[in-house]
Amino acid sequence: MNSIKELLDAKESDTVQTIEPQETVLTAVTRMMENNIGAILVVQDKVIKGILTERDYLRFVSERGRTARETPVNDLMTQRVVYVTPDTSMDEAMGIMTKQRVRHLPVMYEGRLMGIVSIGDVVKQIGRNQETKIRFLEDYIADPYPGPNSNQAKG
Ligand code: AMP
Repeated sequence: MNSIKELLDAKESDTVQTIEPQETVLTAVTRMMENNIGAILVVQDKVIKGILTERDYLRFVSERGRTARETPVNDLMTQRVVYVTPDTSMDEAMGIMTKQRVRHLPVMYEGRLMGIVSIGDVVKQIGRNQETKIRFLEDYIADPYPGPNSNQAKG
């Protein structure tokens, strides 16, 4: 499993939580808490306007004088959204996250939003891939030339 598409297919939920730019930060944070997610995409008229993550909220609470109830998401979100496509490899996605210092990447295909992957999803998947590789190598070392009478054929 090496592409973002396969990772998306394996994810339990493919619904992407979205919010409109004029909605409040309180609504956004409540939605993130309810859904146990760290980022929400800001969308208006089906166009992606930005992304808001828990990091933005942390920055916000450290600034005094504004409340989440009265501040629109628009004031806090990052407007230029970095995204990947389904054929992006897991390594590439990891590289983008590391280089751009973001932990969430929307997945776009022909202008359509297909999902969102977090650094947690990617790390988990890389771990699974490594486990599969190790199991294969262990089998190979135990029995490099599997035939009808091999250990692997016997299970
Ligand atoms: P994160 O590490 O994902 O919580 O985000 C760190 C900062 O990068 C926050 O200011 C986010 O708004 C921003 N950010 C997160 N993901 C993206 C993305 N895919 N594209 C652009 N900015 C992002």
